Parts: sequence; C-alpha cells; structure tokens
Amino acid sequence: MKYRNLGRTGLKVSEISLGSWLTYGKSVEDNVAEKTIHKAYELGINFFDSANVYEQGQGERVMAQALKEYPRESYVITTKAFWPMGEGPNDRGLSRKHVIEQVHASLNRMNLDYVDIFYCHRYDPETPVFETLRVIDDLIRQGKILYAGVSEWTAAQIEEAVGVADKYLLDRIVVNQPIYNMFNRYIEKEVIPVSEKYGIGQVVFSPLAQGVLTGKYKLGQVPDKSRAANDSINTHIKGMLNEDVLLKVEKLESVAKEMDITLPELALAWILRQPNVASALIGASKPSQVEENVKAIDVVLSDEIKEKINSILA
Ligand code: NDP
Repeated sequence: MKYRNLGRTGLKVSEISLGSWLTYGKSVEDNVAEKTIHKAYELGINFFDSANVYEQGQGERVMAQALKEYPRESYVITTKAFWPMGEGPNDRGLSRKHVIEQVHASLNRMNLDYVDIFYCHRYDPETPVFETLRVIDDLIRQGKILYAGVSEWTAAQIEEAVGVADKYLLDRIVVNQPIYNMFNRYIEKEVIPVSEKYGIGQVVFSPLAQGVLTGKYKLGQVPDKSRAANDSINTHIKGMLNEDVLLKVEKLESVAKEMDITLPELALAWILRQPNVASALIGASKPSQVEENVKAIDVVLSDEIKEKINSILA
C-alpha cells in the first residue's frame, strides 16, 4: 500500500480507502462484510469511512466491529452527520445540538473513544457555519474528533469555512469528500484549486461510478447480485447504464487491456493521478474486489494514456 498525507496535515491515509454505504449493514451479509474489511486491512488499507445515516448506524457498527481486533492507532475511521436521523426538527443538519448528539451516538455505536475524522455530510444553509465549526472545535478539544472535514461543499462554501475558522481562531477543515470519477469531474474546475490553496485534501467517493467503471455492466445486461440488480437500493447507478456511458466504458476497457491491467485499476489510477486527492474511497461487496482494486496503486499513467482517456470521455 502507499500512503498520502491528508491535505496539509501529518495524517497518513492509504491511497485506497473503504466505505460502508449501501453495503455493510445492508446488502452485504455481516460475515462477508467482516471478511472484506479484514482483507482491506491486510492489504494495507488504513482508512475506513462511514456515516451516522448509513442504515441508521448499521454501517458504522459493522465496520467498527470488524476493526475491533486491530490496534486503534493502526486505522483511521470516520463518520459524518447532516442527513435526517429522525422525524424531529433537530434530528438533522449541523446545529450544535445535533452535531454533539450525533457524534456521541456514533461513538457509542462503534464503541470508540474518538473518530479520526468527522465530516459535515453536506452544507447546512439553516445553521451558521460559525456554529458548526465552533462545536467541531469543541469536540476536537475534548478529543472526540481529531480532524474536521466536509462532504460535497462547493468551492465558495469551503472558502467561507476557512474564513470563519481563521477569523475566530477555530480549527480549519482539512478534508473534503466529493464524488469524483471519469464520468463526474466537476471538482476539477473550482473545488480542487480552492482546496489546494488552503491545504485541504480530497477523499473522493464513487471512484468506480458505483461499479459502472468495472466494465461489468453491458447494454441491457445487469449481472445478478450486482448493485444495479438490487431493487432495494436506491441509487443513481441505473441512470448511468445507457448507450453513451457504456460505449465509453467499452473504449476505456480496451485502453486498460492495452496496458495489461483491468478497468477498475485504470479508473482508480486515473483518480490517483491528482495530487490533491489523498485517497480513492471505494466500496466493495466481497474481498476479491478489494484485492483487484488495490493493484491500482502501482499503475502509472503516461501522458499519452491520459490524453487517450480524455478523448474517450470528451
Ligand atoms: P464505488 O464507485 O467504488 O462502487 C463500489 C461498488 O462497485 C461495490 O460495492 C461493488 O458493487 C462494485 N465494485 C467495486 N469493485 C469492484 C470490482 N473490482 N469488480 C466488480 N465490481 C466492483 O464506490 P461507492 O459508490 O460504493 O462509494 C464508496 C464509499 O464512498 C461509500 O461506501 C461511502 O463510504 C462513501 N460515499 C460517500 C458519499 C457522501 O455523500 N459523502 C456518497 C456515496 C458514497 P456490487 O458488487 O454490489 O456490484
């Protein structure tokens, strides 16, 4: 495994990290989830992602339980809050009350004294950024959170957070968690330049476009047991299974073949070409997927290959 610093912090995270959304505590049986998380750890992955809202805490529970047998200092585990956890007006958002309650609930579920990173799962227009950063700063000082991050914040929102933190001498956010893959490159325009300016790293989710960038979906063919075959999962994946996307996937697959690697390796190596990305945050429904995906860390893309990819995606 290779490790990168998370933004301008001293924290080292593995270039490939593993998350629990839609998988652990939901579509993947607990024993398979445990094996997959153990495989990731054995392969040097030290970075594990969760959120309060993933199956109302089940994602956190399964992930933390599987990691329990390893020394706490050997892994970095995260959680998030923002999305509704109940029906009440204070069961959502980034207010002082909700953030404190949710961090405590997450720590209880995971049976941990602290999480390494706490993310604001989205921007909350109904709570002043100062209120949120202040409560995060308090939790950092209490040792319950080590680093603060945001997820899917715009460049302007990230700048606002940095400005407020600096004005009131609060801890700055150090990481953003946006979507980023060959089919969704919006962060390249503004989010990455602003993040670089302030030493904020990206941990990017859905780097394989939920499995579309593995080449397993062909036009009109959805493999059994794949994410797109599972009707109980409400994702955007089905919207991607059209002729335009799948034709591009086919062309990308031939580029991978030319290089004697697989498409997931190519897609992840392409993500890791970005120096501002600290880690590509994958999902995996079985250990063999993690085994295949971590091989990407050794793939170097030449300028010629990058140009080829750009012209396919154009
Ligand atoms: P990916 O794009 O990596 O998709 C993961 C899925 O693709 C797997 O569950 C599996 O699905 C399939 N897959 C992965 N590797 C392979 C392989 N080698 N061969 C074949 N199929 C493969 O990421 P996700 O969309 O799952 O997101 C990853 C993590 O990011 C989440 O767990 C979560 O922690 C985080 N996230 C954060 C969000 C946020 O708002 N902050 C939003 C979304 C995700 P299957 O086998 O079932 O087909």
